[in-house]
Amino acid sequence: MGRRGLAVLIMVAVVHTAAGAQDYRKVIDIVQRMEERLTKMLAEEERARKAAVNQLRSELSATQPGSVQTGATASHEPGGHAVSNDPVARLLDGNRRFVEGRTAARDFVHERPALTAGQHPYAIILTCSDSRVPPELLFDESLGQLFVVRDAGNVVDPVVLGSIEYAAEHLHAGLLVVLGHEACGAVNATIKGGEVPPNIGQIVQRISPPVEKVKAQHLKGVRIDSVCIHENVRYQVAQVTGQSALLKSMVDEGHLRILGATYSLTTGGVTFLEGASSGTHAGASHAAPAPVPATAEKRKQEH
Ligand SMILES: [Zn+2]
Repeated sequence: MGRRGLAVLIMVAVVHTAAGAQDYRKVIDIVQRMEERLTKMLAEEERARKAAVNQLRSELSATQPGSVQTGATASHEPGGHAVSNDPVARLLDGNRRFVEGRTAARDFVHERPALTAGQHPYAIILTCSDSRVPPELLFDESLGQLFVVRDAGNVVDPVVLGSIEYAAEHLHAGLLVVLGHEACGAVNATIKGGEVPPNIGQIVQRISPPVEKVKAQHLKGVRIDSVCIHENVRYQVAQVTGQSALLKSMVDEGHLRILGATYSLTTGGVTFLEGASSGTHAGASHAAPAPVPATAEKRKQEH
């Protein structure tokens, strides 16, 4: 007898006993509770069955080359979209889907098991902790694809460099993107200057050189915060190879490419910057996925 049959039998027995007590309201209540328990039991059985199937799938994919674990050459196409082998093209494709509201449907329940054996992210993203700039969402990526390092102002320090070194050398991620963004509070705080608590001071101190450089130019007719955000990205890109001999040698040997980019809160688009790069083919420019409308200049509320 199956579990469903057993449950029905128990239900009938309970109903019979309760009916003897002539309490029909109680009977209905008991039947409803039994029904709920039965539904829960069946759902648990279904979950267990799906978990077994997923386990089998993950064991199969772990034995196949070119499976989801191989990062850039992944054959799976969540949502049915094509996945480019060029990491920059893949990021831009994902960002285009994000901009246009065509992001892929994700099935994390099925994706998780295949990733328990290890990770092979194809790109490292150093970006701001700002809640409006989550890399996995704006590049429409899933689990195991992006190695993300975040802090306020996307600044480089020894801990950040150690994280990047780990992803580049041990996980073989061949692309690092330093991603700044429109209306960055850390950059604006640095422009404003003044007293800040010591730990925030550590951030400001690392954004000051590019901000001071821009201020010294006495630019007219441009938004200084926008220029500083671009200059900060260029500066942090330079710091990566300037402060890490390991990453410098990886760039020189063609194992790592570093690109600077900015994210528009207005359009959702990521634009790779000219002159903010190092590594093979790093000088190539990449078009923004969407034109920036005039409203881009509108100041965003900072939180
Ligand atoms: Zn920011």
